[in-house]
Amino acid sequence: MSLIVQKFGGSSVANVEKLKNVAKIITNAKKEGNDVVVVVSAQGDTTDELIEKAKQINENPSKREMDVLLSVGEQITISLLSMLIEKMGFLVVSLTGWQAGFKTNSEHTNAKIIKIDTTRLKSELEMNKIVIVAGFQGVDRQLNITTLGRGGSDTSAVALAASLHADLCKIYTDVDGVYTADPNLVKNAVKLKEISYDEMLELATLGAQVLHNRSVEMAKRYNVNLEVLSSFKNEKGTIVREDVKMEKLLIRGVTKDDYTARISLINVPNETSYVYHVFSLLGKYGINVDLIVQSYENQNKKDISFTVPLNNMELAVKIINENKERLKIQDLEVSSEVSKVSIVGAGMQVNPGVAAKFFEALYNANIKIHMISTSEIKISVIIDKKDSTLAINSIHDAFF
Ligand code: ADP
Ligand code: ASP
Ligand code: MG
Repeated sequence: MSLIVQKFGGSSVANVEKLKNVAKIITNAKKEGNDVVVVVSAQGDTTDELIEKAKQINENPSKREMDVLLSVGEQITISLLSMLIEKMGFLVVSLTGWQAGFKTNSEHTNAKIIKIDTTRLKSELEMNKIVIVAGFQGVDRQLNITTLGRGGSDTSAVALAASLHADLCKIYTDVDGVYTADPNLVKNAVKLKEISYDEMLELATLGAQVLHNRSVEMAKRYNVNLEVLSSFKNEKGTIVREDVKMEKLLIRGVTKDDYTARISLINVPNETSYVYHVFSLLGKYGINVDLIVQSYENQNKKDISFTVPLNNMELAVKIINENKERLKIQDLEVSSEVSKVSIVGAGMQVNPGVAAKFFEALYNANIKIHMISTSEIKISVIIDKKDSTLAINSIHDAFF
């Protein structure tokens, strides 16, 4: 007998028909003799709709109250799914994040899991019940409701699999695995049989939303057996694990991230301490700076450009403007019309020419590059957002 954690995303539980389909997958696993723990997301676009509702009432609501609201979506799914499974004659119980023992820090709307107290959950399993857990949520030390960040149900599932020492964590979604690029944007994308934790982590961090990046980090840390597969097709998906042979592939995948913004500080002093002052100020407000480019100095002045997540753009600009005089900034340029396009693959460490092929593809598609950044297993560029879908298709064609 195995212990399996199954996770179903929003599109897999969007309506009654889809809930019935999911209930069948769950009860089949139970009938095969497994212990089954299920993590679910909010139905369809529920989370987006809740955010929209909040905006109509208050443009800038406190993050604590947002979490109270957003956690509702997942609670609707656990109750409906449990009622359905109950009707099919199985023992089942739904648990909210806090009932399932998820303890987080107090970083509302982006909380980190500190630990999971699985006592209650284990006792439900001992009573032979299927356990349906609300993903994406937990409570902090004061029992305030918290959420884990958009897409966070994947992380709930992997964290539970790690805590329970589950034999397998299956992430069911609306595509049948991890592809070389988003199959909804790149027609020729190819499904991967397997991918390493490190490569998957880069892909997820660089915009492949098929897995929440923190779920991959957690899977790597606790060596969780992870599979990404379709809830609509009965087929093998993609296995994510430690070591994966590269075969003849130069790269593993292409991604784009449209949720990025570029900020340029124009004509600022060319002093080493300067970059430290700017980035420590942004860091103090919890703003993650990503790519950074400095121009050549000109009469002891230079320009500094960097990117931040799109949802941090307004805050970053506000902080910079408030400190404009102290930081001696003559001018500020901001653009939300940019995207980050990247290639990922451990193969680029040993295969020269990967960068050349990547830039050739962008050149052939006549795409202007604003910024470049590289690591051992990725190359990223910042380009105009209007070009991002063309870019990933051109790059994908060049490599696959
Ligand atoms: P869920 O609601 O199940 O959590 P998501 O919408 O978060 O599903 O993630 C699945 C989506 O991820 C797919 O529909 C696909 O458009 C997108 N995606 C982006 N990059 C990739 C990739 N490399 N492979 C597979 N899917 C990808
Ligand atoms: N419902 C949440 C979201 O839409 C969490 C998730 O789907 O993983 O972001
Ligand atoms: Mg998701």
